[in-house]
Amino acid sequence: MGRVAILIVAGGRGLRAGGGIPKQYRDLAGHSLLRRTIAACLDAADLVQVVIGQGDEDAYARAVEGFTLLPPTHGGANRQESVCRGLEALEPHKPEFVLIHDGARPLVTPELIGRVIDILRKGADAVVPVLPVTDALKREGKPGVLEAISRDGLYRAQTPQGFRFDAILRAHRAERGREAVDDIAIAETAGMKVMTVAGDERNMKVTSADDFAIAGRLLGAPLPRTGMGFDAHRFGPGDHVWLCGIRIAHSAGLIGHSDADAGLHALTDAVLGALGAGDIGQHFPPTDERWRGASSDKFLIHARDLVRAAGGAIVHCDVTVICERPKLSPHRDAMRARIAEILELDMSRVSVKATTTEGMGFTGRQEGIAAQAVATIVLPS
Ligand code: MG
Repeated sequence: MGRVAILIVAGGRGLRAGGGIPKQYRDLAGHSLLRRTIAACLDAADLVQVVIGQGDEDAYARAVEGFTLLPPTHGGANRQESVCRGLEALEPHKPEFVLIHDGARPLVTPELIGRVIDILRKGADAVVPVLPVTDALKREGKPGVLEAISRDGLYRAQTPQGFRFDAILRAHRAERGREAVDDIAIAETAGMKVMTVAGDERNMKVTSADDFAIAGRLLGAPLPRTGMGFDAHRFGPGDHVWLCGIRIAHSAGLIGHSDADAGLHALTDAVLGALGAGDIGQHFPPTDERWRGASSDKFLIHARDLVRAAGGAIVHCDVTVICERPKLSPHRDAMRARIAEILELDMSRVSVKATTTEGMGFTGRQEGIAAQAVATIVLPS
């Protein structure tokens, strides 16, 4: 199959986003806008060619650190000339197809790129991703008078726009020095058959400071993760049990290396599970004398701090304690408050429930107490 090239056009001086440097080198959620755009295209094509502005060489070198790309080429006085020069830089590599993409669209997906390439492979000369116009359209006729315009037959055009390489290079050379709206317009002038494909609302063009903020939120949206935990401890001699960090008087105690708080142990495992960080036994081996009789809030604080160290946050947890005795409902709010205190969460984000097993099984026979927990955390994407 013929090779596919992506030509990324980043030669503009766009200073509209502020900050005094071309917008393609401004930071977007930890990387430059251009680095993000290139990264989104790297695996989707055989060749990636970038067109950059005169004087941007150093900024570009920083933006592409670690990437394997064709050497950049310098743009011309306008976008049309820049694209033409980029196509000429690709010519010796003889790609069969080229996708021409705005350097300011970092949210392009492999799926959208794949849709464009698919239509080209099926024989189209040119492909443009389009989206319907959903807002009402108005035109100012006389000053202060807005007339309605029908949306029928109107589309918003995105990039990447795909072309048969030889045909679009010929078309661009023929139109050199004349003004065209975009590469699709040049293709049409040259008589190439243009097909449309569904665009992608997320594939926004990042131009203004507001766009940077919106794209940053889309890129940086934290990933939610959920973990579960289970624990059980056997009754033994004693006059109290620890459950969810609360001391509760009882006719028996719970046996364990630490304070045997099954509620906090299940919750610690749930937090570790959400983080993918093993289980409580790995972090606090029962063979370790340091943890003999330890109060179990230490374990939960450790798990909480691991989440924070990963740049994440615990957003919710839910614990179910399973036993016939002691009766837990009088202690439920104290348990919630204690867990909220340990995790430094609002109490509305902590749930504690209690149930029996109707006399069945080991908890029903009052051999011990079990607990289950679910924790939800968010981590940076
Ligand atoms: Mg335990």
